[in-house]
Amino acid sequence: MLLQISEPNSTENVARERKRGLGIDLGTTNSLVATKSEGGADVITDVSGARLVPSVVNFTGVVTVGTSALESAVSDVRNTVVSAKRFMGRSRHDLNDQQLLGLTTSDPLAFDTDDGPKTPVEVSSEILRSLAARARQSLDETEDGVVITVPAYFDDRQRQATRQAAELADLNVLRLLNEPTAAAIAYGLDETIAESSVVAVYDLGGGTFDISILRMERGLLRVLATGGDTALGGDDFDEIIVRWMLDQWGLDSMTRDQHRQLAMMARAVKEQLSESPEVSIVATGELAHLDDLLLTRETFTLLAETLIQRTLKACDQTLDDAGRSEVAHVVLVGGSTRMPIIREAVAKHFNLEPLCSINPDEVVALGAALQADILVGNGDGDEALLLDVIPLSLGLETYGGLIEKIIPRNAVLPLAKAQEFTTAKDGQTGLVVHVLQGERERVEDCRSLARFELNGIPPMVAGAARILVTFKVDADGLLEVSAREEITGTEAALVVKPSFGLSDDEVASMLRASQTNAAEDMQARQLREAKVEAESLLHGLIGALEADGDLLSDEERAALETEASGLVQALASDDTEFIRALTDQLGQASLTFAERRMDRSIKSALSGVAVSELDSAD
Ligand code: ADP
Ligand code: MG
Repeated sequence: MLLQISEPNSTENVARERKRGLGIDLGTTNSLVATKSEGGADVITDVSGARLVPSVVNFTGVVTVGTSALESAVSDVRNTVVSAKRFMGRSRHDLNDQQLLGLTTSDPLAFDTDDGPKTPVEVSSEILRSLAARARQSLDETEDGVVITVPAYFDDRQRQATRQAAELADLNVLRLLNEPTAAAIAYGLDETIAESSVVAVYDLGGGTFDISILRMERGLLRVLATGGDTALGGDDFDEIIVRWMLDQWGLDSMTRDQHRQLAMMARAVKEQLSESPEVSIVATGELAHLDDLLLTRETFTLLAETLIQRTLKACDQTLDDAGRSEVAHVVLVGGSTRMPIIREAVAKHFNLEPLCSINPDEVVALGAALQADILVGNGDGDEALLLDVIPLSLGLETYGGLIEKIIPRNAVLPLAKAQEFTTAKDGQTGLVVHVLQGERERVEDCRSLARFELNGIPPMVAGAARILVTFKVDADGLLEVSAREEITGTEAALVVKPSFGLSDDEVASMLRASQTNAAEDMQARQLREAKVEAESLLHGLIGALEADGDLLSDEERAALETEASGLVQALASDDTEFIRALTDQLGQASLTFAERRMDRSIKSALSGVAVSELDSAD
């Protein structure tokens, strides 16, 4: 969930030296690197002027990345890894049989090469390394930090894997940024669109189709819903051209190598068709004996119709998920949206002229570069900073099965918040920190994220220990919870992953449940709080009677015990008011007893007993 917020206290940065930030689009098919320039941002080219780096890595003793590796994709299939992004943060059972081809059979998941097994993280790190090297060479300086983009639907494991790849490449990751949000930034939408405006980002790349719905909320740009098809992209348009060619030639079978050769031809034809109304196809090599063909844009439009309709259907579904609001802008992203037929179909479907003035295969990297520039510290205070928000509140289980919210829903990341807790029972030396996510009041209605124990609390009376629980959420939505007992300094901590792994649908349904159940939850909370208060009063009283019962006369003691047993009976009911009334009554009745105990403890404190003696008497 991405939001936009004005960067605070950056006016003091005026005279500082300019830092260098890089924006990296680590794509399935192509990757690229960009950086802030005077007017906006620029893609960094290699020495020959190439802008895109094919996301292909060849391992044969030496590692080659990009165009030269792509050349070996046909000749050296075994050692050439393509589309590693599809495997990031994935395990064997996430993949189908075809995807498992060429992978090792052992864990972790790795591509089998002559250089040994190569994990998707290692492959991606080679691409990142090569992009950074290109930037350093071209700019003649080393960057201070990078922003790497990831699909909005990437879950926490996939994001973690991306971070690992960056670490392996020795990059300083300022943050991971969602691809659609990066595209919206490149068009300046984060600064220009009105409150509540909705932006649809249509991203058709090489192998995937993503549709994201963003909305401006309270000055912040937020991802409302994501959808699409992970098995629909430019490659499928190549494939329909391959099938059309075979059809024209009256062929129905071919070898794998022939297919690959035809697919490469088809891709070139498709890309050329974006510029010219028709393209002639001249068969070469093994296929030279076949007739030349002519593919017109009209024919291609007919062939591509079903694929285009599939993307539009996914758009409708995702818009439904987002609540069907009126779309103010459609942003085109991905090399495949260069196809005029896509532009026309999208314009017609949304009844809007889509934004496509920035190269669709560069727009994500350019937005990331703008963001990187602000995050390295070049902001002058006017620009907006896009930050994640917490989709659901985060909190802790407290005594009585209630959740105490520490970080409210929609809080902007990164942030840290601490709250003090105490023990519920006398002599309690440990406590379970149970971290929960959700809007409801009761633990069983929220989602349990993690649980850990803090032990070694010195035994004290209930309510005396001071336990500071800190929730820290970084810019990627990773939550770190730590608990520290203030007297002894005993600490325990743990990292959990709150925001991802929950789909937007799940978040929406949890929110809906919290709204419909709000009144009921409020009552349940009040009842539980009343019970907790009554129990702790009773508990304290029993302990006090054991320790200092001699301070009471028999009648006084009997009177208190009658009041107490009345409250115990009331606890069995679900009558909040009744429990509260009896609790107050018992509290009043025990006041004199409490005062006498205070007097006694003050006297014993004044009588100068050594601390060590007190301890051993315990
Ligand atoms: P990804 O985000 O998947 O890494 P890109 O956004 O770079 O990939 O898109 C790659 C796809 O875009 C390829 O299928 C490629 O054929 C297609 N493509 C690039 N240029 C054009 C063009 N001029 N016309 C049609 N398709 C194009
Ligand atoms: Mg892409």
